[in-house]
Parts: sequence; structure tokens; C-alpha cells
Amino acid sequence: KRIAAEYGIAIEGRKKEDIAKDLALGMLAEFGSIKNSLQLAERAPQKTKEIWKQYGITPRGIDREIVEALHRVHMGVDADYVNILLHAMRTSLGDGWGGSMIATECSDILFGTPKPLTSWANLGVLSLDKVNVVLHGHNPLLSEMIVQAAEDPELKKYAIEKGSKGINLVGMCCTGNELLMRSGIPIAGNILDQELAIATGSVEAMVVDYQCVFPSIPATASCYHTKVITTSEKAKIPGTIYKEFKAETALTTAKEIIRLAIDNYPNRNPDRVRIPGKPMKVMAGFSEEEIRKALGGTYKPLIDAIVAGQIKGCVGIVGCNHPRIKQDFGHVTLAKELIKRNILVVETGCAAIACGKAGLLLPEAADLAGPGLKAVCNLLGIPPVLHMGSCVDNSRILVLAAMVANELGVGIGDLPLGGAAPEWYSQKAISIGTYFVASGVYTVLGIPPKIFGSQNVLTLLADGLKGITNSAFAVEPDPVKAADLLEAEINRKRAALNI
Ligand code: SF4
Repeated sequence: KRIAAEYGIAIEGRKKEDIAKDLALGMLAEFGSIKNSLQLAERAPQKTKEIWKQYGITPRGIDREIVEALHRVHMGVDADYVNILLHAMRTSLGDGWGGSMIATECSDILFGTPKPLTSWANLGVLSLDKVNVVLHGHNPLLSEMIVQAAEDPELKKYAIEKGSKGINLVGMCCTGNELLMRSGIPIAGNILDQELAIATGSVEAMVVDYQCVFPSIPATASCYHTKVITTSEKAKIPGTIYKEFKAETALTTAKEIIRLAIDNYPNRNPDRVRIPGKPMKVMAGFSEEEIRKALGGTYKPLIDAIVAGQIKGCVGIVGCNHPRIKQDFGHVTLAKELIKRNILVVETGCAAIACGKAGLLLPEAADLAGPGLKAVCNLLGIPPVLHMGSCVDNSRILVLAAMVANELGVGIGDLPLGGAAPEWYSQKAISIGTYFVASGVYTVLGIPPKIFGSQNVLTLLADGLKGITNSAFAVEPDPVKAADLLEAEINRKRAALNI
């Protein structure tokens, strides 16, 4: 109802189904909008919106900006690098404050806003004697149905009849994050763990939807008994079993998939099963709403702690694993460096999973933090690294930043914040980094994007944007040096705020 009100939809005396229908239509209309603005971008602070307006980067629609970007780079269209890059920023803002934010809100409406909970992470969550089903990709819809299907008493009984001790669901990548955040389903790993999970020899079925799914998965699975099941009409992979997900038949499909996994259990070869190590406990579920609630309903205590210097600032570490970087090294090293310097870390995506595996998503990890941050974490009983969700949930970080900025009456670009994508890999990570920068958040990348062919582009992204959004990109592969850059930027913004 709160979000329907934001869209100007009448609520009083109406059935919730009717409100939901109007809200869904209102949200869908934003993708090809001709009204020159996005509703949820109104959540941005006034000063930030004025900057967007001044430089012509206010997102006017979601798909509309993407289509225009494709047109601009067609032969003989936009030849001005500044013009192209400003439009790239507008396109990314349509993602962050539009598509991603809508996805987060819709997932919360359908499945509930995440609340803090504890669960487990790493390949050790796979079971030696249960039917292991790995849920991988980015879409919470089918996987939420599979969670329901796995509770079906008949299927539970069937799993026992087939010689197992039950059904064990685990997550992978951002489908895994969605399930971890809302249902506490253990998470087996991030993107570079997908083949390793199969190589434990213990996975009966890997169910994938879309994004970040290696096309090599069926080849890896063919060395073991694992069945790979694709479910999205737009993401088919040769060598997999295809079970199309449709909203009307979702539960039936989910039950079929669980049954298929159970039927595959007798094919597991116990001599080839190697599940490494023990799972690591994690605390997740930090939606923006729950962080605010933990602070007593307002960001004032956080602002007071920042003003007092107890917490210097906050950095969002996001993004993938990259084959050129030792898995998780960038995320974990950077997070440890930042918390040591009294900088609160919020995370999403594979970065959050990396820190979960490393034990940083636990209140006890506050012992690794500087004294100011440690005291705040101990007082609130929270970890110094907060798991805020999947990659689309970077929109939660934007909302948090907007709320803090609104409370102070400044723009996001004035806040002592930073962003980092130490091991970014997917195209989406670049969009995320760009909407962070376009929103005013200085962002350090651990892998150089393919822009080094143009000094003009480099200078604009690394320097020129400071005069526009008071933020910029930096590239620094060494996570300790990246922490130095982020701390320096936070100090610069603190000084400008006179704190
Ligand atoms: S962080 Fe990157 S690799 Fe991981 S799920 Fe998100 S987009 Fe995919």
C-alpha cells in the first residue's frame, strides 16, 4: 500500500488485488514511459535530482534509455564522447532507480521484506545423505516455489523411500541470496563455485533461471550424475533438461523438479562424493527497512555516530568473482581493511557471499573492526558487514543513502560514502557501478573496464564527473590501496560537511 501510494494509486476501501493490479500496470508502464520521469527516482534527494536535471541525465524510462543507447552507438549517430557517457549514466539510473528498484519492491511485496536471520554458507552446506538441489541464477519466483514444493509431505516421503534422509535445498549466486535473505536457505557459494558444487559429486539437480549461469555447466555435470535444469524461455542451454517456468503452473513445475532430483539420488556414487569443510554461520536479511528499524526507526543514530567519527562512513562492496582474481580475495581483503578503519560495509551479490564464507557476516566479526565501529556493532548486535541482498537489491543501498541524505538535507554526493566492485565480471556490475557514480557515490573497480583506449573517456570518468555528481570512477586492483582511495574520499566528503 505504501508503494501504491507513491504511484498515486487510490487505496482506501479497495481490495488488495485491485490495488496490486493497478500498481503492477503502473510499474510496467515505466519501462517504456513517455512521461519523462520514473516514479521511484522521486525517492532521490532534491539536490541529487537537481544535478540530474541540470546535466540532462534524469532517467525518462527504463527500456527507453536502453533503446536510445543502442541507437546512439549505431553508425553515424552520437559522435561526442561526453554526450554518449552522460546518456550511459542516464541509462544506468533507469536501472538503479527504476528496473532494479521495482524488482526489489515487487519481490518484497510477493515474498516479504527480508528480516535479519542466521543461516550457513559455503560448499559445506551440501548434504552427504540428503537429496541436494542447488538453486542458481537471479529470479526468486521459481525458487520460492521450489522451497514450497520441498515441504510437500509426499515428496519428503518419496525422498526417504529412495534411500536419502530428506531434501536439502541450497542457493547459489543471487537466486541463492534471495532465498537466504527471506527464508534462511543456506548458500553454497558465489559465481565461481557453480562448477565446484557439481564437482563435490553430491548434487542431484542444479536448477538455473538466468544470468551468471556458465554455459559449461552441462559439460561439467556430464562428468557426474548431476542433472541441470533450465527454466527460462530466454536462457536455454544445450545439454540441460528444460522445464519452463510459468506463473500459473509454478508449483506443479517445482514439484516435478524436486521429484526429478529425488529420482536421481540413487545414481549418486558415494565414492566420488567430496564435500569440503564445514559451513560458516552467517547473519543476513538486512533490508533497508530492517536497518532503519534496528536504529530505532530513524537514521539519526547512524548520522550521530558518523558525525562523532565513531563510524567514518559507509562503503557498498558489490559484484562478482572474476577469473583473473583469486576467488573472494578482493572482496574479503577490502571489507576487512574498511571495517578496521571504522567504515561500515554493506554488501550484495557475490561480494556478500564471499564475506559470508569468510565469517565477516557475523556479529563476532566486529572484533576485526576499529573501536568506533566495533562499539556500534556490539551495541546493536549486528555484523560490521551487512548483507543487503542480491544484485538488484543494490537499490536498497540507494534508498538507504537517499534517506540519510534527506535527513541531512544534502545530496547523495555530499555523503561520506563509497562503492567498490573489486571482482566485477558481469555487464550488470558496470551498470551498478555507473548508477552509483551517477547518484554521487565514488566507486573503485578492481578490474579495468575496456576504456583505456581513450584518454578523453578515462579523464572524464576518473576526474571530470567530480564536477558533475561529486563522484568518479577509480580502478585499483590492490584491495588495500582501494581501501586507501575510499578512505581518502570519505575524509574529503567529511571535511566538506565540516565533520
Ligand atoms: S554479483 Fe555478479 S556474478 Fe554474482 S550473481 Fe551478481 S551479477 Fe552474477
